[in-house]
Amino acid sequence: MTTTAAPYYAGLRLQVGGDAIMAPARKSMPVEDPATREEIGRLPIATGDDLARALEAAARGFARWRATSAYERGIVLRAAARLVRERVETISRILTLEEGKPIVESRLEVLATADIIEWCGEEGRRTYGRVVPSRSPSIRQTVLREPVGPVAAFTPWNFPAITPGRKLAGALGAGCSIILKPSEETPATALALVDALRDAGLPEDVVNVVFGDPAQISETLIASPVIRKISFTGSIAVGKHLAGLAAKGLKRATLELGGHAPVIVSAKADLGKAVAMSASSKYRNAGQVCVSPSRFFVQKSVFADFVEAFTQKASSLRIGHGLDEQTQMGSLANERRRDGIAALVDDAKRHGGTVRTGGKPLDSGGFFYAPTVLTDVPPAARVLSEEPFGPVAVITPFDDLDEAIAHANKLPYALAAYAFTQDVSESIKLGNEIEAGMVGINQFGIALAELPFGGIKDSGYGSEGGIEGFDGYLITKSVTVA
Ligand code: NAD
Repeated sequence: MTTTAAPYYAGLRLQVGGDAIMAPARKSMPVEDPATREEIGRLPIATGDDLARALEAAARGFARWRATSAYERGIVLRAAARLVRERVETISRILTLEEGKPIVESRLEVLATADIIEWCGEEGRRTYGRVVPSRSPSIRQTVLREPVGPVAAFTPWNFPAITPGRKLAGALGAGCSIILKPSEETPATALALVDALRDAGLPEDVVNVVFGDPAQISETLIASPVIRKISFTGSIAVGKHLAGLAAKGLKRATLELGGHAPVIVSAKADLGKAVAMSASSKYRNAGQVCVSPSRFFVQKSVFADFVEAFTQKASSLRIGHGLDEQTQMGSLANERRRDGIAALVDDAKRHGGTVRTGGKPLDSGGFFYAPTVLTDVPPAARVLSEEPFGPVAVITPFDDLDEAIAHANKLPYALAAYAFTQDVSESIKLGNEIEAGMVGINQFGIALAELPFGGIKDSGYGSEGGIEGFDGYLITKSVTVA
């Protein structure tokens, strides 16, 4: 195993039109490996002038890209997807170094990102309009779908490939240009995707990338008349703030704001499968996943068995640096997350919760926290109502399915939800009655290129992925000809 940055981690830059602006030319900030706290690169900070030039570039890029046929756009995106697959090893190492997740997970994420880019390249050719029967044979009525305009997109640190990838591919597949502001904590993965797009033939100006003060950048970009749509993934508080900025300019917004996903395990579930899949999904990316299962409701007759088996799996995970092929859970991505999880677990303990395993940070140079299982946690504990975004599972017993569904639906979050049962009528009831943007029954595979990804209630609005993902990037125009 190597944890040194070179030669994987280099080339941090702002991409403003055709200009690559590197750190020495601007004020800069450090990027850290969260598992060691070693500085692995310096990130240039965009000036007001850089943002103004990025907006001008995005306007030029839009004029050019919307005039490129969907067929040709598809060729570029499919070529970029191929390059991302060819570069999977390098991009995955970059991703693990800056985010902390195990390299095995990074590879899966990068390959899934390639799938999304490819899918959007293909599906962009099928953004069909309609011909509507007219009231007179001499009139032709058509409905066109056209790209909305330049997009400003803001992405967090937990999925440094897939989240920027979704926004880039959706915008580009629909014919929009984009200014992307990835997380300053995980900048190089997004830049590697942009490299693949440019190497695949994406014209200059169509994709721009900026970093710096998130609030200043979002206020500047969203206020600009150039920007016609925003897309944000991150916390509810920031999402609501950005939605307000977008509303001032009557701009479209797609917001994916996290969740607190329930998992209902019925006594009629295949318990072995429920435990194995739940534990592996829970500790993926150390729980820093917006669709991570975090509130487990298990029917009383199987509760003790579920807790014992789940705890056994959690406590046997191999923790280490993400670049070690044997690692099953890496460090958390930053100090905020480690301290945030510690505060939630301590609060649960104060409320009488039982720590079945974990419950503490791990001694090391990085931001590690032990995989944790809590039971006997009363509803007043913060961990049952605040998104934990870390390696913590809270397991609570229930008597009947209606009670479990009420638990599942009681929070303002409604992104993902899961359930395990072998009973068909229970499956149908759960699918109908759980309030969430995505429901996985007997499995956790909900984030695929061809499926809409998004939440309802405080988890946001709009979809990314699936044919629905294009809706946010397309306007509807009726053209009637006499
Ligand atoms: P945060 O909301 O402060 O930051 C999330 C992302 O938004 C970061 O990349 C940040 O740079 C960006 N951001 C922050 N303020 C912004 C602004 N004014 N304009 C534009 N972008 C802005 O969250 P955090 O401290 O990184 O994490 C806190 C919580 O947010 C987490 O515990 C989790 O609940 C949630 N979160 C959710 C997701 C998700 O996938 N939905 C991802 C990351 C964080």
